[in-house]
Amino acid sequence: MKEAQKAEAIRLSLAGLRPCQIMDVMEKSHGGAPGAAGFLCQDMYNFIARQKKEKVHGSDAEYVLNFMDGKKEEDPEFFFKYNKDDEGRLQNIFWSDSQSQVDYEAFGDVVVFDSTYRVNRYNLPFVPFVGLDNHRKTVMFGCGILSNETVASYVWLLQAFLEAMRQRHPRSVITDGDLAMAKAIEVMMPGADHRLCSWHIEQNMVKRLRGNKLKEFRRFIYTHMDVEQFEREWAEYRSRHKITENDLWMGMLYELRKKWSTAYTKGRYFLGMVSNQRSESLNARLHKHLERRMSLIDLVEHFQACTVSTRRRQIELDAQAQHGVKFTDRSADPFEKRVARIFTPDMFPKVKEQVRRLHKWKVTEVTLDNGFLLHEVSSIENTSRRVQVRCTFEGALLVNATCQCRMMESEAIACGHIFCVLRHNNVVEEIPAFCISLRWTKEAKKAFQTELGISTQVWSEQMDRFHALRNKGNCALFKASKSEAETERVMQFFDGIMSKEIENNGSAHATSFGPLPTHFSAAHRSSTSGVLDPKKIISKGAPSLRKRWKAYPEFWRTN
Ligand SMILES: [Zn+2]
Repeated sequence: MKEAQKAEAIRLSLAGLRPCQIMDVMEKSHGGAPGAAGFLCQDMYNFIARQKKEKVHGSDAEYVLNFMDGKKEEDPEFFFKYNKDDEGRLQNIFWSDSQSQVDYEAFGDVVVFDSTYRVNRYNLPFVPFVGLDNHRKTVMFGCGILSNETVASYVWLLQAFLEAMRQRHPRSVITDGDLAMAKAIEVMMPGADHRLCSWHIEQNMVKRLRGNKLKEFRRFIYTHMDVEQFEREWAEYRSRHKITENDLWMGMLYELRKKWSTAYTKGRYFLGMVSNQRSESLNARLHKHLERRMSLIDLVEHFQACTVSTRRRQIELDAQAQHGVKFTDRSADPFEKRVARIFTPDMFPKVKEQVRRLHKWKVTEVTLDNGFLLHEVSSIENTSRRVQVRCTFEGALLVNATCQCRMMESEAIACGHIFCVLRHNNVVEEIPAFCISLRWTKEAKKAFQTELGISTQVWSEQMDRFHALRNKGNCALFKASKSEAETERVMQFFDGIMSKEIENNGSAHATSFGPLPTHFSAAHRSSTSGVLDPKKIISKGAPSLRKRWKAYPEFWRTN
């Protein structure tokens, strides 16, 4: 590989591309044929592996801790915590930077524990803490790596998380099927509402049930029904499929029904999320590039790269939201025009849909009940469909309204019924504050505004010069390529450079293609030296969901 190719490979690898993807990019820029870049894919793998090895002096764990120390120097609010086992091995670690903590202030109402298991060379669980921002995009709150999947480890992790977040608890949490994590949440965040990801429940079920037994079970997860109907249908389901007390798994699922069935989770605050599944592109990226060969520092850097890319997108979306108002028809409802100004472009369609629904309902009866005005709201199409909206007035002013459908309580969006009641009470234009959840608005972060901390890497002087030359060169070369004569002139100039000896001034060292390892200065070594790498968890392949569940039913019942 040529030196310039090495520098390019490092640049692409820092952007999160894997060696095979880098190979693809480089071959394409040389015309596209395999081998066009002049080296083999194996050369690329070897080069990148060598670079990584050079970076890690001492143990992998030491490097990670030094990296964390370095971050703390850059960002005094950077939080990290770790512990060691009796043999001095790194056991658990959690970290969260200042921007994540600010984002948690604004969007930490619902936290998703988006774990991946056995994805690194030590087989350790990797647990990013994520949430939804005002654009409904993933926002990162922090990340943990644990030495095992016990309740004690998860308790340690949640303790560290709450310490970083100044003991502010989330309102709700969503987790996968890991019941040790579920137990730890009960212990550490007793006030938080907890749901299990429906995707994980379904995956597990697909492996255990067949035919009608499976099909009918899906109803319990996804179909809207009330609690009485759920209980009745469950009893019927059990007798139809002859499910006995001995079916521990079914028994456990029933005990956990409040954490996964639509009947029981309806109206609870999960912002409309039923699962932590990885449909969203960034979320997918967070998990997609994980490899079994990864070291701890690879994992930490991977999380860092994902954080940087989410923040870059966040900045773009914030700018779009600040500078633009979603188009509304001239004839649109005044509420709709207000909504376009208040909510982010990604939330606008959802709120608009509710505003438009107000015309499908009408208030048919108003009664006084304990100081509240109960509004009976009926569907215009089908008058038997009714919901009650309970309103609080201060004098003539409507100051609060809660609807039986609980959309505001579950998704933080006012429902069409409430908009209908507002209109009935002659509220025409201004949308009252109780109908607006700050977390979905353009102003969501205003109260917590800080500089978005996108950390920059430090490069050697030579690499800084190279980047400047390349950026300017790219534009200049494109311009020159428009004319044959100009192309010839530039080519000759380049040939002159290539044939000349050029001294590498300013540095006696060999060229460093990657960013400088600023986090590995001797100053940091005192506090973190001597920490050994974690023990590898021995396993025959990744655990199946079935195993994960199977390990816990008894535990869940007895603890
Ligand atoms: Zn409603």
